[in-house]
This record gives sequence, structure tokens and C-alpha cells, in this order.
Amino acid sequence: MKFRKVRGVKDILPEEVEKINFVVNTCRQIVESYGFKEVILPVLEKMELYQHSIGEATDIVEKQMFKIVSRNPAEEQTETIVLRPEGTAGVVRMFVENNFKDKYPLKRFYYFGPMFRYERPQKGRYREFYQFGIEIFGEPAPSSDFLLIKIVNSVFEKLKIKVDLEINSIGCKNCRRNYVVVLKGELEKIKESLCDVCKNRVERNPLRVFDCKIDIDKVKKLAEKVNIKNYLCESCKKSFLSLVKLLDENKISYEIVPTLVRGLDYYNGTVFEYKTQILDAAQNTICAGGRYDEFISQVEPQVNYACGLAFGIDRIVEALKDYKEKNGKIKVGIAIVDDKFLFVGFKVLDKLLESKENVKIVGPFTEKSLKSQLRLFNNENCKYVVIVGEETEQNKVVLKNFYNNSQQIVELQDLDKFIV
Ligand code: ATP
Ligand code: MG
Repeated sequence: MKFRKVRGVKDILPEEVEKINFVVNTCRQIVESYGFKEVILPVLEKMELYQHSIGEATDIVEKQMFKIVSRNPAEEQTETIVLRPEGTAGVVRMFVENNFKDKYPLKRFYYFGPMFRYERPQKGRYREFYQFGIEIFGEPAPSSDFLLIKIVNSVFEKLKIKVDLEINSIGCKNCRRNYVVVLKGELEKIKESLCDVCKNRVERNPLRVFDCKIDIDKVKKLAEKVNIKNYLCESCKKSFLSLVKLLDENKISYEIVPTLVRGLDYYNGTVFEYKTQILDAAQNTICAGGRYDEFISQVEPQVNYACGLAFGIDRIVEALKDYKEKNGKIKVGIAIVDDKFLFVGFKVLDKLLESKENVKIVGPFTEKSLKSQLRLFNNENCKYVVIVGEETEQNKVVLKNFYNNSQQIVELQDLDKFIV
């Protein structure tokens, strides 16, 4: 066939969709119970949104965005549109543009949908991938940081995925300014031994060297030598330590990782990532987030606090090793002995769907022999088959049970009582 999918995107087949829905429904159910409300974000946003929020000197903005060239020359001059690479910036824009500050006393929101990044495709890394994200506005640290962590822990507990939580504080802009000067000084000393990308990062955005997936050992050593925790101001130190205390008190295990700085510039203060050993090291982060108080205060001055996170749904589904089809519904096939009974077949279908919530109907089909219909229902794992034939003239049908290999004739009006 001459048509092939675009590089880096996936066709998601029904079995995979079922797993995605299982993961997303689990997230949805948990966050809804904490009062989060769903928003649906546009896939298209103006490029400036991400330049301002994620930051110019980040991988996403520098090289990972899918840009749409406007065909209207007048528009092209004023704006470039991109496929959203992440959700937080869009939620913040929506928050400000629709005055969420006054509209919603409890400012907790969530979203789900595809994100787009021009990355080198590999297992766990796609150009179109799915995130489920949550954002909390107006609630200060450390209680809202702790709430995020508590929510993520419940999700992974429900999904039965073993995870390791890594946390760090990247301080406020004052702490970071001091730290970056020292870090840059140290980096200059070893610059020649760093990879080409990092050489460039030393000048443009030194913190980003910690994202390096090539010189991992080198940057780890460096982060131990000049550890950001020694550069935190009193207030940043206090809120980070309060979170640590809350985690300890609640017996939540974590590791403080000084190289954890996140790949987006809008963060400040507490940041965290969840990893799973089930996946390969370069793609084993399945949830990540942190605070962005400074960003929200800039764009919505009366709201001083914000934090959030995103679950990487594709990777979580890959980590969901022992998922078994959990379908609570009873599958019922409707077999038609002769085409002249087809209309009764559809009546049976209506009756079953109206009277029972937990059934899934297969059929009715025409132009197939009874034998081949039964084979199909068996392959589809139907528990029952309703055989619609001559008996319908006495308002009866044959009900076959594939699970215990029995069959009986039942009154059409009582049919639903036998489907259990
Ligand atoms: P990484 O360091 O793996 O590139 P990131 O820091 O770019 O991740 P975030 O922007 O924090 O990722 O996104 C949150 C989560 O979304 C990640 O932890 C990951 O699970 C998932 N994710 C990010 N990029 C991709 C991608 N290209 N394909 C699949 N999942 C992704
Ligand atoms: Mg990335």
C-alpha cells in the first residue's frame, strides 16, 4: 500500500485504546475526587506563548515545535502557529484569557490530549504523544506540592506500577541567579570535555546541562560539587524542607536529586519526576511536574501560586505490563436463522440495550449461515447467543450459553432475566 503514517506518530489499535482509557479513567476518577475540573485545550496555539513560558533556550522551543506556516502573508508576519508541545502554557493562557481568577474559587484543572514534539522517534519517544495533566492555582507550597505527589502516588498504586519519586528545588529567580553564576564558572572549566549541545548550553542556559543524556556522570559529579541546595534563599529552603517533612511524616519515599531541573524554564521551587525501572533509562520518566509561581504571577499578578504535572500516558501504557482486559460487560450475540427474522433481531437488540446496562451486543448479521454466525460469536467471546428463528412466531427465542454449553427456549419478554 502506498500510504504510510508520518514518521514518529502511532496508529493506536483497539487493544491499546482500551489500555489508554483504563489509565486515563483512573487518573480522571482520582483527580475528580479532589475537585479538579476538566478543560479542553486547543491543539493550535501561537508560538509566542511557548517562547515566553517554556523559554527560548530550551529543547522544546529551539528545535521541537511543529510550526504551521500561515498561508495568509499578512498573518504570517504577525504570528506563527504551532501544534502544542505541552499543556501547562495553554492552561495558563486559558486561565488568564477567561478570567478563571474570579470565575472559579477552587482553581484546580485537568486536561488530556495529544502533544507534538519534533523528537528523534524511539520507544517511549514519539512526535505525537498523550499527556494527562493537572494544574493547581492560588495554593501555596508545600501543601499543594504534597497534594500533587499524593495524587500521583494514588494513580500509580491503582495502576500497580512501581515508581521512584525524585524531587529537588531549583529555587526562586534570586537563588537561581546566584547559582547559575557559580555553575557557569564550573562549567567553563570543563567545557571542552562536554558534548556539543552542552557547550552551547554553558553560554545560553547553563542549568540545561543537567538534561544532558550523554555526559550524565560528568554533570552528576558537577551537581554534587556545586549543589543547588546550598544556594537556596531562606524562603525557598523553608518551603522545600516543609515538603520533605510532609513526605517523611506520611512515609512517602523519595530521593533528592540535585541534577533534577526540568526541561522547561517556567519552573521555580519544587520540581519532581517519577521514574519506573520497567522502562529503558532514557525514557523512564512517566510523570513530571513542579511549581511555577513566578510565571503565573507575571501573567496574572493577583494569583501568586501555581503548580502542576503531566503524566506521559504512552509510557505509562508501555509500563502496564500485566494489564488484562477488564470488561465488566456481558457479550451477547444475536443470530438470525433467516433474513425474514432480521426485524425481530433488531427488536431483541433494542430490548436488551434498554433493559440491561451491562450488555454488549454483537450482530445481528445477515447473509451468513447460522453456523458461521455462531463461530463468529464464539470467537468474539460472547457468553450468550440469542437465536432468532421460527420460535419468534410464538414470541420465543432460543438462548444459547457458550460458557456452559447449554441452550433453552425463552419467552421474548423475559429474555433479559436470563442474561446474567
Ligand atoms: P524527557 O526528558 O523524557 O524528554 P521531558 O522533560 O521533555 O521528558 P515533560 O515535558 O516534562 O517531558 O513531559 C512530561 C511527560 O510526558 C514525560 O515525563 C514523559 O512521560 C512524557 N513525554 C514527553 N515527551 C514525550 C515524547 N516525545 N513521547 C512520549 N512521551 C513523552
Ligand atoms: Mg523531552
